[in-house]
Amino acid sequence: MYRGRLAPTPTGYLHLGHARTFALAAQRAQAAQGQLIYRTEDLDAERCRPEFALAALEDLRWLGLLWHEGPDVDGPHAPYTQSQRRGYFLKVWQLLHAAGSIYPCDKSRQDVARALTAPHAEHDAEPIFPPSLRPPLGHGRDLIQPDGTNWRFRVPDGETIHFEDRLQGPQAFVAGKDFGDFLVWRKDGFPAYELSVVADDHAMGISEVVRGADLLLSTARQILLYRALGWPEPHWAHAPLVVDAQGRRLAKRTAGLSIRELRAQGRTPAEVLTAPVGTLLS
Ligand code: GLU
Repeated sequence: MYRGRLAPTPTGYLHLGHARTFALAAQRAQAAQGQLIYRTEDLDAERCRPEFALAALEDLRWLGLLWHEGPDVDGPHAPYTQSQRRGYFLKVWQLLHAAGSIYPCDKSRQDVARALTAPHAEHDAEPIFPPSLRPPLGHGRDLIQPDGTNWRFRVPDGETIHFEDRLQGPQAFVAGKDFGDFLVWRKDGFPAYELSVVADDHAMGISEVVRGADLLLSTARQILLYRALGWPEPHWAHAPLVVDAQGRRLAKRTAGLSIRELRAQGRTPAEVLTAPVGTLLS
């Protein structure tokens, strides 16, 4: 059974890029006669707002997308709002901790910046965590809860992570070169994106992850988490990013391109989903 998902982060109104990626996810679920799960990824308490979470549900309904499970329709894997799933994420932290895959890390952004020996990864804003700042193996094994400090996943330096993307073709990223030890738990007491998304895609039985191509590098990190946890990986399908006539990525804040605003201008769902981007900008 195909199970796909829509996983918006409610830090603002959804834009044209979201609309098209989510519509593709819905089409793929429908074509496979599968199910679609809607999950609100609101773990960033400072930036996420309930009104954006509601607006996202409403905008995607307006576009005609249908999901079978979600915060507004319930389902067997409830709750579908990540801020209510901390207890489960904590169990996943425990599994990674027991496997010796992660370590507590009190280095600040400044420490990391100062010790940086590698250049920033080309496709990703996150600097590569310098191996010189890693604690010795086994550090933190005696801790029984994650809170109060950041935790990172120790990547296997030099190993190439390969995966087949159903839309972008074969992919390869090198651990320690394209990305470094990444955050799995934040000192504010909540999991970081890579942990929460893997934990929930697994718990919700997701068979194919459809999302924007800006997350290809994250997929390599997530594959390492699946392996450390001994969980089967889903299939991957990264949608091409929506760009304007100059080839620039559309950002959430690009004026006039939130679904809300397009609706207010009288655009139809079909136009939002299929019209050339240039015609929607005018
Ligand atoms: N919630 C994430 C975001 O909106 C997407 C996560 C994903 O699709 O893996 O950026």
